[in-house]
Amino acid sequence: MTNTNEQSVTYFSAVVHLAQNRPEITACFLSFLRNDARNAQTLYILGDLFEYWIGDDDDSPFVAEIAQGLKQLSEHGTVIYFIHGNRDFLLGKKYAKKAGMTILPEVDLIELYGQQIIIMHGDTLCTKDVGYQKFRTKSRSWWWQAMIKSLPLFIRRKIAEDYRKQSASATAMKSQDIMDVTDTEVERSFVTHNSLLMIHGHTHRPNIHHVNVNGKQAKRIVLGDWYDQGAWLKFDKDGYQLLNSPLK
Ligand code: MN
Repeated sequence: MTNTNEQSVTYFSAVVHLAQNRPEITACFLSFLRNDARNAQTLYILGDLFEYWIGDDDDSPFVAEIAQGLKQLSEHGTVIYFIHGNRDFLLGKKYAKKAGMTILPEVDLIELYGQQIIIMHGDTLCTKDVGYQKFRTKSRSWWWQAMIKSLPLFIRRKIAEDYRKQSASATAMKSQDIMDVTDTEVERSFVTHNSLLMIHGHTHRPNIHHVNVNGKQAKRIVLGDWYDQGAWLKFDKDGYQLLNSPLK
């Protein structure tokens, strides 16, 4: 994808973790879609938009309300792209269409204002989390996904809820080091894609890191999570900025 329009503004966000039991985040995100996000010509959502995703056949009013908010933004003129996270990787084309979003590959290379940018959720960079990477491989296989999708909706809802509780406690026990990105994997990604700028989420550590890649200065922008505030990156021809909005 190429965006050569000099006037355009692009937003990136991730790790919203929308869930029915966090209504203040839902309100903050819907307000973002109705207000701030309208200033952007393009919005990239880099994964974990939802705390978990049980299937596009989820008939809860909650997921319908989010789809409606996204759809209204896209009808207003903002192009929305979505990359799967480790929590909402089952989100499919059916829901994406309802929400007016286009799903991109899990790692993508885009061009913005003359720069090549790697975009991804970021979980693949955390290679020290061996247990998770094993689960990731399994859960991306067709047979695992076919098995899950064949289960009744109420069973999937129960599994997701149990998994969420389990992963919350497991995360708490893992060392900070395991949960962050692996430097060699970051460098490998910069080299593979021949790029000097990367944007991702996942780690809940918003920051702009300077990375030396074969003697060149690269930058890795980490998007913040939506826990205590709204969080996104504004990107235009003059540069980029991590922005926040308070919970109402
Ligand atoms: Mn994640």
